[in-house]
Amino acid sequence: MIGLSWEGPVVWWNPVEGLRHAFTPEQRPRPDQWRATLCGPRVTLIEPDEVDWLLPTCDDCMSAAVTRGRDREHRREETSRQLRERFGPEVR
Ligand SMILES: [Zn+2]
Repeated sequence: MIGLSWEGPVVWWNPVEGLRHAFTPEQRPRPDQWRATLCGPRVTLIEPDEVDWLLPTCDDCMSAAVTRGRDREHRREETSRQLRERFGPEVR
């Protein structure tokens, strides 16, 4: 259904500088990228190993990610509602 297809992740997570930070979804994180975290600072991404993924999650990035997820959910519900109004309740 138009507008309801998989849109990719809300954010990417990447462990860097002692915390797991979130990054905007447009570009998948790669080592050596110079990226802004959702909480603000720009960091150089690393190649995470298993231990890095155990780092604590950045609180600011988590709340930013939750907000983004909620916004997307809201847009999806709105699109779904408009389709039902136009095409009837059988459209989901
Ligand atoms: Zn962060």
